[in-house]
Amino acid sequence: MLIKLCAIAICVSFTFNTFGSDPKNDYVIVEDPTALIVKIPAKQRPFARQGIAGIGKKQTAKPVFTIEPTGEKVIAKDGTNNNYNLLGGDRGAIPIDCVCETFLYKVGDRVVSLVDSPDGNTQIMIGSMGTLVCGDLVNAWNLPLLVEWDDITNGHDGYNWCDCGASGGNPGSTQCWLVQCDWVEIVDQTLDCVCASLYTVGDRVRLLIDNPHKAPGLLAGASGTVVCGWSSYNQPYVRWDNWDEGNENADFWCDCESEPDIGLTNQLPVYCDWLERIPEIDCVCNAQYYKGDRVQLQVDNPHDTSLLTGDLGTVVCGWDTTKYGEQLFVRWDNFNEGHENSQYCSCETDDSLGIFNISAVQCDWVLAANNNCPEDLNSDTTVNIADILALIAAWGPCGTCDEDISGDGNVDISDLLALMAAWGICPIEFNPVGACVLAQSQICTIVSEVSCFGYGGIGWAEGGSCVDTDLDRIPDVFELGDCSVPNAGYAGSFYNVRDSDNDGINDGDEVYGTLDGLDLPLFGCNPCRYDILVEVDWVFGTGIPADSYKLHANQAANVVASFANAPLWNFNWTVGVTLHLDYGQYPYNGGNSVADPSGNDVVDMDTWGLDGSEYQAIKDANFAANRDGYFHYSLSVWKFSLAGVTYTSSGVSEINGDDFILATGQYFVGDDDRVSNTFMHELGHNLNLRHGGFENLNYKPNYNSVMNYRYQMCGVDVDGDTFPDLVLDYSSGNYIDLNESNLNETIGVTGVGPAIDWDLDGNSNETGINRNINCKIWDAWNCGPYALTTKTCGSGSNCGDSSCNVISDYNDWLNIVYSGISESDFAPKEIIYCGPGERIPIGN
Ligand SMILES: [Zn+2]
Repeated sequence: MLIKLCAIAICVSFTFNTFGSDPKNDYVIVEDPTALIVKIPAKQRPFARQGIAGIGKKQTAKPVFTIEPTGEKVIAKDGTNNNYNLLGGDRGAIPIDCVCETFLYKVGDRVVSLVDSPDGNTQIMIGSMGTLVCGDLVNAWNLPLLVEWDDITNGHDGYNWCDCGASGGNPGSTQCWLVQCDWVEIVDQTLDCVCASLYTVGDRVRLLIDNPHKAPGLLAGASGTVVCGWSSYNQPYVRWDNWDEGNENADFWCDCESEPDIGLTNQLPVYCDWLERIPEIDCVCNAQYYKGDRVQLQVDNPHDTSLLTGDLGTVVCGWDTTKYGEQLFVRWDNFNEGHENSQYCSCETDDSLGIFNISAVQCDWVLAANNNCPEDLNSDTTVNIADILALIAAWGPCGTCDEDISGDGNVDISDLLALMAAWGICPIEFNPVGACVLAQSQICTIVSEVSCFGYGGIGWAEGGSCVDTDLDRIPDVFELGDCSVPNAGYAGSFYNVRDSDNDGINDGDEVYGTLDGLDLPLFGCNPCRYDILVEVDWVFGTGIPADSYKLHANQAANVVASFANAPLWNFNWTVGVTLHLDYGQYPYNGGNSVADPSGNDVVDMDTWGLDGSEYQAIKDANFAANRDGYFHYSLSVWKFSLAGVTYTSSGVSEINGDDFILATGQYFVGDDDRVSNTFMHELGHNLNLRHGGFENLNYKPNYNSVMNYRYQMCGVDVDGDTFPDLVLDYSSGNYIDLNESNLNETIGVTGVGPAIDWDLDGNSNETGINRNINCKIWDAWNCGPYALTTKTCGSGSNCGDSSCNVISDYNDWLNIVYSGISESDFAPKEIIYCGPGERIPIGN
C-alpha cells in the first residue's frame, strides 16, 4: 500500500507492508511533525535521529521518540521506555496503541468488516476488506480506527486523522473510512488451500531451485513474498524480488486469499517444496528461529530467574544488542517473574498479554523442540482435555487443519479416537544439534543439521562443539588429524596445530579460504601438504615482442616440477611441495603485465629492500591486498636499479621474505632452462637460502644447488664431477664435507668418487692436498665445455673466498623457511642481488 501525504509545501510518500515491496528497503520513521513521515534510505540508517511520533490534527502530548539504529534494524524509544520496531514491511511493526485494545491492531494489518454500512457507508459490507492505517484518539463520531478499504469510492483521503500508528490516507483517493474497534477483525491470512497451510500472506520465502517452471533469471536463493495460494496445483503464488519476467495477472492464480492485479510482472507460482520460509527472527541466533517455535531451556537460572533446565517456552522475538549480545525472548509456560511484554524486540514483535512470563535467554541456552505428537494440539507436551476441547471446537469438515489428525478432511470421531489413544505425556523430541561451520562468515555455531545447511553451512557435526584449540578457525571436531582430503567442512589437519603442514599458512585458510576472500582451496592448497604461492607479474617491455619477459608456461612448469619432486614427505604421505605459480592462468588469474612507470624498462628500488619507488608502486597497483601474507610477489624485468645504480645482475631477492625480481630479460629471453633456473634461485632466497645454502660463501663444489652460482645457469651436478648437468634442483645435502687443507682427491665430493684432480696437476689419486676449491668453473654460463678452476690457499681471484677451510653441503629442501610471506613490505629486510655467474677467462 502506497500512502502519500502532503503538508503545506511538503509531499512525501512511504510504503509499508505492501506485498509488492521489498520490506528491507523501506524504513518508515516518524520523525518531525512538519516533515510528517520520512522515508530513510538504507544508507542513512546509521544516523540516530530525534523525532516526534504521531501527526495530525491533535498534536499535543506526543511522546518524544529517539530513533536508534541497532544493526540492521531501527527502533524507536519513547519517553516511557517503550521500544517500537519501525522496520517497514515488518507486518504490524507499528502498533496502533492509542485506541482499541492496546497492541490489538497494528499498522498494515488486513481486516475484514463485521458490519454492513458502518457509519452509513453503504459500500462497506460484511466481508469487505481493508488495511489498517492508524488510530484517531478523539473525533466527533467516536470512531477510532482508520481503515483504507480495498473497493470503496465514497470515502475520504484520511489526511489528518491519525494520532498513533503511522499517518493517514491517500490524498486524492476516496478509500479511507473510520470505524469502531469491534466493527472489524484481523483477517487470518493463512493460505489454507496450499502447502498444508504452511504459509501466510506476507511470508518472506526463499527459492530452493533454479529456474522454476523454466522461468528465466529466477535462481535458487531468490527471495520473494507470498501473496496468495493457487489450489489447482497446490502452489503458493509469490511476488519475487528483483525479477520481472513473470505473470502480470495475479487474480487468476489466487484461490485462497485474494490479491488485486497490480500489473507487475514479478509474480510466479511455485511448488511447496521449491520454497522455504525465511525466518522472521533473523537478527539473532543465526536466523534459526521462527516466532512460535517451542524451545526447552538447557541451563538453570538464566539471568537469575527461577527457570530451570528442561522448562518449555515459546519464542516470541529476537533482541540484538551490543551491550548484552544476541538474546532470544521466550514466553515460558510456567513462569511469572519476567517481562509483561517483550518491549526490546529487534526482530519480530510481540503482543502483550499482561502476563509476566517473558524473559530473554542467550541463543545457546535453549534447544529447539519438536512436538512429534500430532494429537497434542496445543503443544503443551500433554494430550489431555484441553486438546479434546480444541478438537471438538473444530468439529466438522475443515479441509486441512491440525485437528484433522487422520488427514481425511473432516474432524470427526476417528480423530477423537486417535487423540484418546495418545492420552498422556507426549514426549518432546529435540532436533539434535551440533557444530556447524558457516561458509559465509566462516564461523562455527551450535544448531541443528537442518538449520546449519539451511543457512549456508558447509559442515555439521552432531553433538560437536565449536571449541577451536589451535585457533585456526576449524573447530576441533572437524580436524580429523588423518590428513584426509578436506570435505564438507571436515579437514585432515590437526586440532592442536594451527598450521599442520608448517608451510606458513594456517589450516583454516587452506581449508575454508581466508577471511578476506582468498580462495586457497580453489587453488588446491592442502592443510597437510607444503604449499608455496607466487604471483608472477612482468614488465610488458618496450620495443620488443609483447610479453618477452613473461615467465612462460614451460618455464613455470620446470620450476613447479622441481618442487613437486622435492625429497620431502608430507603428512598425507605425498612427496614434494606444491608450488603455485600464478602468471595469470586459471584459477589464480592474478599475474599480469605491468608498465615500468618511468618507461625505461629499468625497475627502480630503494637501497634497503624491495620496497620503495617503482617496485612498490607496481606491486601496490597489481598485487591484490588479500594476497598479502599468502603469496610471494615476483616481477620479471629487463633490469633493475638500487639507489640509482642500474645492475646487470640476474635478479634480486629478499632473504626470508616475500619479494623478488627476476632480471633475466637482459640475457635470456626465450631461454627456458636458464630462466627457470634463475627464477628458482631467486625464489630460494625468499625461502631463506643463500649462495652457500646456510652461508653466503659461493662456488662450493660440494653445495649441489641451483642457489650456488656454480649451478645456477646450467643445473646441478648429477654424476659427482662438480659440473652442471642441466637438472633443476636445490641441494639435498648429500655431498661430503671437504677440508681444503687436507683434500682426498680419490673420493671426490660424494665420498666414493669419481676422483677429482683438485690441484689440476693431471693426477687425481692424491691425498693431503691443500687447495682453495670454491672457485668459478669454465663455462658455467654457457653450460660447457667445463673445466675446473682452483687456487692455492690464500689466493681468491675468481673464487668465493681465498682461505682454505672445511666447506659443507646443505640440505636446502629440509631447511626451507616458509614464513617469509608474512614479511611486511616496509620492514627492513636483507636483500641479495645475484651476479650472472660472470664469464671468466680460463686459467689459474
Ligand atoms: Zn642469488
